[in-house]
Amino acid sequence: MRVLITGGAGFLGSHLTDAFLARGDEVTILDVASDLKVRHQLQNAQFRYVRDSVFSREILEGLISWCDVVYHLAAVVGVEHYVGDPYQVLNVNVNGTQTVLNVAFKARKKVIFSSTSEVYGRSLSIPFKEDGDRVLGSTQIDRWCYSTSKAVGEHFCFAFYKLGLPVVVLRYFNVYGPRLDHMDVGRVITIFLGQLMRGVPLTVIGDGRQTRCFTYVEDAIRATVAAGLKEEAVGRIVNVGSDEEVSIKDLAAMMIRISGSRSSVTFVPQQSVYGDSYEDISRRVPDIQRMREILGVTPQVPLEEGLKRTIEWFRRQGVEGNR
Ligand code: UDP
Repeated sequence: MRVLITGGAGFLGSHLTDAFLARGDEVTILDVASDLKVRHQLQNAQFRYVRDSVFSREILEGLISWCDVVYHLAAVVGVEHYVGDPYQVLNVNVNGTQTVLNVAFKARKKVIFSSTSEVYGRSLSIPFKEDGDRVLGSTQIDRWCYSTSKAVGEHFCFAFYKLGLPVVVLRYFNVYGPRLDHMDVGRVITIFLGQLMRGVPLTVIGDGRQTRCFTYVEDAIRATVAAGLKEEAVGRIVNVGSDEEVSIKDLAAMMIRISGSRSSVTFVPQQSVYGDSYEDISRRVPDIQRMREILGVTPQVPLEEGLKRTIEWFRRQGVEGNR
């Protein structure tokens, strides 16, 4: 099979690349990012890395006509971007997705769209079911621009689905593992990792009672590959997550214990980290029935095991090694 992965040089994309290459498929990635996360595949004859943007229409058209399936992962992700550069988030996530879908529609190629658990916002209907409501805050709170941009992307997917394009929408729940962001920046696990390595206190935002269900990348990738192969997934939204719920306070304690670090925990007010443009989500838990039934995937790596593997990987890279 020929697989095109936009955003293939990112965290999820690079693991997806590895998974398809391991199956014997051909993979082309389209990404503006450096080849850091896919460098180990550059000599692989089945792999091609096109350093360009989804807005380069001709290149995109050429690549989509080449492939059998499009994984659209190219997006601006990360809380620091939601509050730092909402324009970029909206432009890439909405207009970039529309462009990819348009070209795929003309070429009649299936699209797997990577969406997010952020789409549910701060809904209180736990666990989050794919057809449940979305609950978001004001448009003056920049945090919600990411959720909104991905929801628009989903709407575009279903608009094209109505016109005959095969699409699958995947909503990822806090996926983590080797190659996630850089130490000290990005998502909570890499921020805590950087703090652990430097032996400084872990910054738990708020009271730390907010929860997440962290999903080990290997489990997320098995579901992602299946989404492109299973006919039953077409036209559906599927949560990709784990149902192991943990509070951020307990996550910090677990990471300190596993790493054997002497770091402590410090509680910091939300506003001091992200300013007024941020609101936290108090509980986020997926319903993973569809992932089990439609994709045939059940999460297999418990949080403790996944964290051990992740910490081990980042230790091997060293503090500078993953920049
Ligand atoms: N968080 C934290 N300390 C940090 C960074 C994040 O306690 O230094 C918390 C954050 O407030 C949120 C959770 O960790 O409740 C997950 O944050 P992340 O940015 O990784 O992703 P989110 O699930 O909020 O999109």
